[in-house]
Amino acid sequence: MKRYRLREQMNGIDEPPGKVWFWELAAAVIDADRCIQCGTCVAACPSNSIGVGELGLPELVKMCTGCSLCWDFCPRGGLRYEALWPPSSSAEDGAPAVVRSDASDPYWKISGGPPADGLGAIVGRYAVRSATRNRGVQDGGAVSALLVALLESGDIDGALVAKPSSDPDEPWKGVATIARTPDEVLEAAGSFYNQTMALAQLDLARYQLGPDPRLAVVGTPCEIQGIRAMQSRRWATGAHRVDSVVLTIALMCTKSFDYEGLIVRELRDKRRVDLERVAKIDVVDGKMIVEYRDGQRAVDEPIKHFHGTALKGCDECADFLGRSADISMGSVGSLSGWTSVLIRTDRGLAAFERARPRLDIRALDDPDALVRLDNLDKRVAFRSLGRPFDPDGPLFVDYEAHVRHYAGSDRRAVVHAR
Ligand SMILES: Cc1cc2nc3c(=O)[nH]c(=O)nc-3n(C[C@H](O)[C@H](O)[C@H](O)COP(=O)(O)OP(=O)(O)OC[C@H]3O[C@@H](n4cnc5c(N)ncnc54)[C@H](O)[C@@H]3O)c2cc1C
Ligand code: SF4
Ligand code: SF4
Repeated sequence: MKRYRLREQMNGIDEPPGKVWFWELAAAVIDADRCIQCGTCVAACPSNSIGVGELGLPELVKMCTGCSLCWDFCPRGGLRYEALWPPSSSAEDGAPAVVRSDASDPYWKISGGPPADGLGAIVGRYAVRSATRNRGVQDGGAVSALLVALLESGDIDGALVAKPSSDPDEPWKGVATIARTPDEVLEAAGSFYNQTMALAQLDLARYQLGPDPRLAVVGTPCEIQGIRAMQSRRWATGAHRVDSVVLTIALMCTKSFDYEGLIVRELRDKRRVDLERVAKIDVVDGKMIVEYRDGQRAVDEPIKHFHGTALKGCDECADFLGRSADISMGSVGSLSGWTSVLIRTDRGLAAFERARPRLDIRALDDPDALVRLDNLDKRVAFRSLGRPFDPDGPLFVDYEAHVRHYAGSDRRAVVHAR
């Protein structure tokens, strides 16, 4: 398809004011190597015009109507961080999230607000591990244990997770899937250091989940941002059932990687790692650790040796803690073999209480470690904007200026002036 960027170039008819086309998202984000492969644009498109291309990036599969929604909700495009104010969630009725809309609300928001103790507004923080030791989990297995409990109690019908690719040429590549049984959840345990265009899976047609499924989403913070922002608006998002998401779980994240770059080139080709024998890949204490099943360490190197394979768009991300999720989980802040858990909403709390009998729970070991890494993550994001970060100042990232810089236009201002 010839890539006209504007209607004038297609047929000579004047461009209506305020429209943003997919090609503009492509130019400012995808072609600029800033896409973090969250899949939000696919899920937001009401005409199902965006698919996932061979390179795992969004691509147009049919006509773009210029509705602007892919741009409006792209975390590297026009996403309004105000849309991520935490929901006044109601766990009882399972209703879609109701998002606060009072701009003067002093409560937390991702782009600023008073960070209560550096971790944001949370209702619980713990170190957690699954009471049963499940194989293949990354840290304490808390994510998997929680999902299994919710499936068995009937609170959810499925969970959007990442499972190993079934393609033998893609060892250690995570692909997005909806797990519908405890066994499927456990088969998908562990961390994959690649993005999966996860939210594209919310087109549920292939999953036979019934008319009104209730889903949990496990994702990197940027993916949870996409869900939360889309849920803050009431419209049908084409085939994608954003309305089905009743629980969001963020995996704390400072960066994700390009699969080919990290796993194939750096690990397999350069360091001769036998991927068939690998039991676990982990990024911990500033190091990349790759362990074989017999316990031998195949790689133990500073993570900076692998920075060249990280997604460029991750540099701009200031959301290590996944502040828009109902629950955030990560390894930092807890002893090895445990998962750090931050609960932010009533929904998150209700889910955690449901799983409590299956969990070993104790006080978070080192909350300050989470704050320190969050500050570092923000410092990197501010540096990518060419500005210094003051940890005592407001936690505000001026994405508008940033987007203008990359897009070379004032698009975002145009979109939201409508
Ligand atoms: C790209 C990435 C970067 C991370 N960076 C950090 C970090 O810097 N600091 C930190 O403290 N923690 C980080 N984590 C989180 C950490 O690796 C663990 O996922 C977390 O501690 C939960 O461990 P667990 O044993 O409770 O989870 P498990 O019980 O093992 O379950 C993990 C769940 O996550 C899902 N999953 C795995 N990979 C992905 C993916 N790429 N996208 C979406 N879902 C996925 C799995 O399908 C599974 O459901 C990162 C995770 C990822 C995927
Ligand atoms: S960052 Fe996400 S929403 Fe933006 S173009 Fe990439 S996949 Fe789409
Ligand atoms: S660092 Fe940020 S943008 Fe990159 S994958 Fe993690 S949450 Fe997404």
